[in-house]
Amino acid sequence: VLASAEQFDFFYLVQQWPGSFCDTQQGCCFPDTGKPAADFGIHGLWPNYAKCRSAGERELVGEMGLVDMGLRRKKCWPEYCNDGNPLSLWEIKDLVKQLDQSWPTLSCKSGKSMEFWSYEWRKHGTCSDLDQHGYFAAALALKARYNLTAILADAGIVPSDDDTYFLSSISDAIAEGTGFKANLECNRDASGETQLFQVYQCVDRSGKRLIDCPLPMQGKCRDRVKLPPF
Ligand code: 5GP
Ligand code: 5GP
Repeated sequence: VLASAEQFDFFYLVQQWPGSFCDTQQGCCFPDTGKPAADFGIHGLWPNYAKCRSAGERELVGEMGLVDMGLRRKKCWPEYCNDGNPLSLWEIKDLVKQLDQSWPTLSCKSGKSMEFWSYEWRKHGTCSDLDQHGYFAAALALKARYNLTAILADAGIVPSDDDTYFLSSISDAIAEGTGFKANLECNRDASGETQLFQVYQCVDRSGKRLIDCPLPMQGKCRDRVKLPPF
């Protein structure tokens, strides 16, 4: 059942900007708890390798978590490490209120955020070396400690239908506001404009402390991007 015995190197704490999730061609739906705040929401806490592992090591770690890198498939993170350990609401009972606020689903599948949390736990959390409560508590504590929405607003980067922002000014604001370099991912709105979609903060193996991100990312960003209102 254990897909990977390999130690991961760090976590990505991934947060999504709801305005950018919702204004794509696909659109979004609000969870059954109502419209979330106009704030970054957690997508997941993802164990990662600092270096993708090549074909030779693939046999060792199985076929999960492969990424296309040119012609060779490389494994860049572990995933689905234990399907025999599904998320139990009972284990995270005391966190549910905070999770509903900070980790809401915007997908139109079911409107049930618990299904999003269960999916993220099964795919990523089971590889984290944390237990269920520790995993969700770690993500919530990190998000609460570094308020990305406030950090950007302090730098004059506020949601707007018209303004664009330099990607570098967003990176700089996050580096200054948190003390650590993050990675940024962009997507496109329904009319094809590039916008900030997700922020990837890097976290040490304990899940407690931010670190500078060890790898840059190719996140479909341009040098000027939007931050659409939600
Ligand atoms: P996408 O292809 O939309 O970027 O990512 C699809 C899914 O693959 C993500 O939701 C996540 O579960 C996983 N994923 C993508 N990039 C990374 C990464 O850099 N690290 C980890 N651990 N998972 C990733
Ligand atoms: P990943 O991209 O982490 O592999 O997959 C995320 C999965 O969670 C997708 O299957 C998606 O349908 C589901 N999901 C539920 N709510 C959300 C949400 O608010 N944002 C994202 N990105 N995925 C969500």
